[in-house]
Amino acid sequence: MANSSGSPSAYKNLPSVDELLRSQVGVDIANAAGHGHAADLARSVLGAVRDKISGVGATNPSKQLLFDEAVRGMAKAYTAAEADRLQKVINCTGVIIHTNLGRAPLSSLAKKKAFDHGSGYCTLEYDLDTGKRGKRAPRCERLLIELTGAEDALIVNNCAAAAFFVLSVFAAGCEVAISRGEMVEIGGDFRVPDVLTQSGASLLEVGTTNRTKLPDYAEAIEKGASVILRVHPSNYRIIGFTSVPALAELSELAHKHNVLLYEDIGSGALIDLAKYGVKDEPLIADSIAAGVDLVTFSGDKLLGGPQAGIIAGRGDLIDRLRSHPLYRALRVGKLVYSALESTLHSYRKGAPEELPVIAMLALGKQQIRERAEAFVSRFMSTYSGPLSFDLVDGNSAVGGGAAPGVSLETVLLSVSHTSRSAESLELSLRTADPPVIARIDDGRLLLDLRTVEPTDEEPLMKVLTAIS
Ligand SMILES: *Cc1c(COP(=O)(O)O)cnc(C)c1O
Repeated sequence: MANSSGSPSAYKNLPSVDELLRSQVGVDIANAAGHGHAADLARSVLGAVRDKISGVGATNPSKQLLFDEAVRGMAKAYTAAEADRLQKVINCTGVIIHTNLGRAPLSSLAKKKAFDHGSGYCTLEYDLDTGKRGKRAPRCERLLIELTGAEDALIVNNCAAAAFFVLSVFAAGCEVAISRGEMVEIGGDFRVPDVLTQSGASLLEVGTTNRTKLPDYAEAIEKGASVILRVHPSNYRIIGFTSVPALAELSELAHKHNVLLYEDIGSGALIDLAKYGVKDEPLIADSIAAGVDLVTFSGDKLLGGPQAGIIAGRGDLIDRLRSHPLYRALRVGKLVYSALESTLHSYRKGAPEELPVIAMLALGKQQIRERAEAFVSRFMSTYSGPLSFDLVDGNSAVGGGAAPGVSLETVLLSVSHTSRSAESLELSLRTADPPVIARIDDGRLLLDLRTVEPTDEEPLMKVLTAIS
């Protein structure tokens, strides 16, 4: 249709696919992504250029002009297609456990361990003493036992898988008592009532949204409940006129009636985080000590390790899970075991601040102010571009559905440009290499150094320097 206006000689000036593949851009793309992909890009770009000529009318673009345009188009199409690859970003949002940005960053020890020991042949299921098949990654489980006081522990893909696994094995076909205040959605697709239904259990709601008492659970047991599920409402708090029975009371009640008490803690902390300002996160060890039969929690929330779901509790119950066919479908691989083992080891040796999540929590406002001041003065010592910085008070967040009531005081870098808006700066940062993720508040572009790992300060400065 529109082709009627393009002159035949204009089409003659179009480069061929081969010519585009011989250009430097074509060669680079073929080296990086394969000849087939480069040829596909060349063909689609040529199609676009052809369509464009058809609208040019009388002007006849030269061969060189068309070639240059096609090469530019190829480079652009390649970059656009590469944007969805998994890539490193610099997190300036101040949200420590940012689910969209991969939750907990690993410690440098955990990264090294995963790289050195978890990426090649290793003792995943091999016993060096006997030269035979051994237990699967027993060290992680042993460290978890030590750190939580549980009789045994097992590791699966994430906490959702852990909850589903526990309920499928111990609650399928049973009535599960759960407080109306704990029928929560943890975010995205994890809704407690749905997970229960999916695992074949039926729900026995007890109490009310704000108050559930011990006799409510006793009544549920009389009605036939054989499992009590406690869920830590990670991502919100009910405040005011509220009550739930203490775990120890619940455990006493459950065990008197031979009922299983299972607690999904989600974020759960291995150590008391109160000194870092996180006051009401439950300790896994406290739940175990209170007599809970099984607990589940995530590896990549406050624990600060790789994505994993941890099940800890009674030895006989964990044994049943370990020998269940579903375990095979839910278990993790050597990369996760090695990173988790190293993460747990930081707790065991009493050095939790080796873990970025804990180190970031531990930063006080004054320390962040000093870091921000040093950052600006180092940056400005060689900079003469359009950006300028102010320090403003603000808050960071724990994130990851943990500690919703906690806000951590911080000092933010507010970035201004001589002529550009905060929105346009945010876009430039987000599309830089590496991408820098910032937030805009009240028309200002804000960077929170709390969540920037110290080794990322240099790359962050490079990205800022390149902004025109
Ligand atoms: C976060 C959370 C989950 C889901 O954990 P994933 O590791 O993301 O699967 C389940 N239950 C609770 C209480 C949580 O906080």
